[in-house]
Amino acid sequence: MCVNEWIRRDFAMPAAVAGTAVATASAPVAAVARARARRIPAPRVALTNVRVFDGNGLTGPRTVVIDHGVIGLSAVGARKVDCGGAVLLPGLIDSHVHVRDMTALDALAAHGVTTALDMASFPAGALTPLRGIPGLTDLRSAGTPAVAPGSPQSGLPTFPQSGVVIGPEQADAFVAARLAEHADHIKIIVDDSGLDQATVTALTEAAQRLGRLVMAHATTATAVDRALTAGVDMIHHVPLDAPVTAATAARYVRGATAAVPTLTMMEGFAGLGVPGHAYASARAGVAALHKAGALILAGTDANATPGIPVHPPFGASLHRELELLVDAGLSTVEALRAATASPARAFRLYDRGAIRPGNRADLVLVDGDPVADIRATRAVQRVWIGGVAHS
Ligand SMILES: [Zn+2]
Repeated sequence: MCVNEWIRRDFAMPAAVAGTAVATASAPVAAVARARARRIPAPRVALTNVRVFDGNGLTGPRTVVIDHGVIGLSAVGARKVDCGGAVLLPGLIDSHVHVRDMTALDALAAHGVTTALDMASFPAGALTPLRGIPGLTDLRSAGTPAVAPGSPQSGLPTFPQSGVVIGPEQADAFVAARLAEHADHIKIIVDDSGLDQATVTALTEAAQRLGRLVMAHATTATAVDRALTAGVDMIHHVPLDAPVTAATAARYVRGATAAVPTLTMMEGFAGLGVPGHAYASARAGVAALHKAGALILAGTDANATPGIPVHPPFGASLHRELELLVDAGLSTVEALRAATASPARAFRLYDRGAIRPGNRADLVLVDGDPVADIRATRAVQRVWIGGVAHS
């Protein structure tokens, strides 16, 4: 029985009360981590006859060496694996997920998502048992996001009240609490009836003073304006109520603010039939951001969180996101960059996002040619994470 089957049969997470599943499952998670550590294969493998996505297109057939977890220089003495001309991509990066358990992590890895940026998890430490497991997706997390009193997020099951921010005077304490909980980045929920400008700005400045990237959740034009005024590093989602205008898109560029449109999630929310919300607005907004030259990252909002009405599936949704980005005007090469080199740079993960010597050996082997047809990314043959084959 393979490890994945073992996890599913014997240690499937209870269908998730948010934030509690991981804590209750930490013992089996540790057991899986030990089992995986014992299964690490030979340290040097040469993948021969691969066409490599180099950030601009596909190379001719060549050899890529996995050497003790990183991309190596020499194939001498390595075990050779003929890949038959298949395409090798840098491991895919999903810039917006909400992971709760091993099942989600396993699905991400199986679909070639080798790094996932969690954009809210609680209680503190919920993801700790899921970090650093050989052969599974590398996680970074925001921990508890900052929300306004009475906001919908503050009412989610198990949401910690330490995430509720009353005003700007609490900004430093909020950020200090997240750093104490080992959050990798800071997330702020910026909604129309949510945190006011002074509070969003104070939170942003407090986090950036301590060298942390600031993520804003913004789903309306007003919220995007507030996030841009505060100077956040990234804005997640894209408005459904009105397309991002050319003037607003130019503000993204001037402020070096990256966009994580999560079109997969916006497509789902638009389908709920809320008056005034239209997927066409989200698509047009991405087109405007692209035209202005804003940095666009692929993120899905994959989640299984109770209380959230749309649940994009872990892993598979990133391939849908790439298709939607292409539909909104990105070239296939730009879409592939949005899930590889661009998020690596934007999240300061300088050891990944490109297949070059010294980088982590996060690799995805796919059939077909995703530069010719982005849907080819779905045909995942094999995945390596930190040089360990996912199975
Ligand atoms: Zn989210």
